[in-house]
Amino acid sequence: MTGHADEHERTMAFADIALGQIKALRQAATPRNYEVWYAYATGYHPSLNQKLNETLQQNGTLTDADLDQIYEAFLSPSRLTERIDKVGSQVMGEIEQVMAMIDAAAGSANSYTESLADMTEKLGQSKDREGLRAIVESLVQTAKEMEVSNQKLEERLNASKQEINELQVNLEVVRTESLTDPLTQLANRKYFDTSLERSIADAHAKNEPLSLMMTDIDHFKNFNDSFGHLTGDQVLRLVAMSVKQNVKGQDTAARYGGEEFAVILPNTVLRSAITVADHIRRAVMTKELMKRSTGEHLGRVTISIGVATLRKGDTVQSLIERTDTCLYSAKRHGRNRVMCETDPEVSGVAAPAAQVA
Ligand code: GH3
Ligand code: MG
Ligand code: MG
Repeated sequence: MTGHADEHERTMAFADIALGQIKALRQAATPRNYEVWYAYATGYHPSLNQKLNETLQQNGTLTDADLDQIYEAFLSPSRLTERIDKVGSQVMGEIEQVMAMIDAAAGSANSYTESLADMTEKLGQSKDREGLRAIVESLVQTAKEMEVSNQKLEERLNASKQEINELQVNLEVVRTESLTDPLTQLANRKYFDTSLERSIADAHAKNEPLSLMMTDIDHFKNFNDSFGHLTGDQVLRLVAMSVKQNVKGQDTAARYGGEEFAVILPNTVLRSAITVADHIRRAVMTKELMKRSTGEHLGRVTISIGVATLRKGDTVQSLIERTDTCLYSAKRHGRNRVMCETDPEVSGVAAPAAQVA
């Protein structure tokens, strides 16, 4: 219920900004224009905002063509597929050219062998010095032509290799973008889902430990209500950074949902995962928040964390559920804490709410 109401307020704030821009610039309020300005208001696509600001600064306005171009470059749902298709067809084109080059080289190698055979035969028949000399000159000439043709092939192959390397980098950029959360630059939910599935399968196969951590910002709705959602988004970035800075390379830190982050910790036993979780919790709570634009002090935020570790027979769903139960327990026990499944409150040995009361 509150989630719905809050989502309404949060998105209305973006909608107001978007419509405000459309009015101020006297643009058509079409869905596409609205989408561009809505994306601008969220700030989720820093490069879209940069492009919009630059174009506005240079031209004082945005034409339909500008909006078209920005939409296609940053928002169009088909843009990633199109970019992947483009790289794919460029690779195919490159391969076709190399194949044609190799065919041509094979052709000249054949005619080289033929003319060598021809000249060997003539050599056998030749009686005089002049005849011999002509044959040797012709041999030298053919060998030179062959060298030139080999050199061309080598140059072409090198150029192709470079081109394909560049295309590979492009493809990697697109792939990374499709798996990254634009606001926090952490892995997105899609990446998290596949990564957790793979990590669980690996851990089961190698009989290695694996832990999972889920975090949720405490009373974040209050924070948004007091300081606005745009400031809330900045805090999300900051929390994401604290998560990222406290995990190692093999771990996957992801934005699981709105203000929830998850970390997959392969090869990590519960105790170590709890230590990592507590570092993250402390890193967040010690940050004194300040609004950069106004210098206004915003206090601090805290996070609650649930940690669980893989058991035999666990699936993605069962591990997430157990981690979530721990998180829920951390919330119920006062927030700003890490709870795990061996805590008696979580394992259900005690009924904490009743005992506390
Ligand atoms: P608690 O978790 O401590 O129980 O309280 P809470 O107020 O944080 O409650 P809950 O986790 O259910 O609320 C989620 C709130 O997080 C709703 C919304 O205000 C905020 N939120 C979710 N996604 C975003 C986002 O992308 N940006 C901003 N600014 N806020 C978000
Ligand atoms: Mg939440
Ligand atoms: Mg919360």
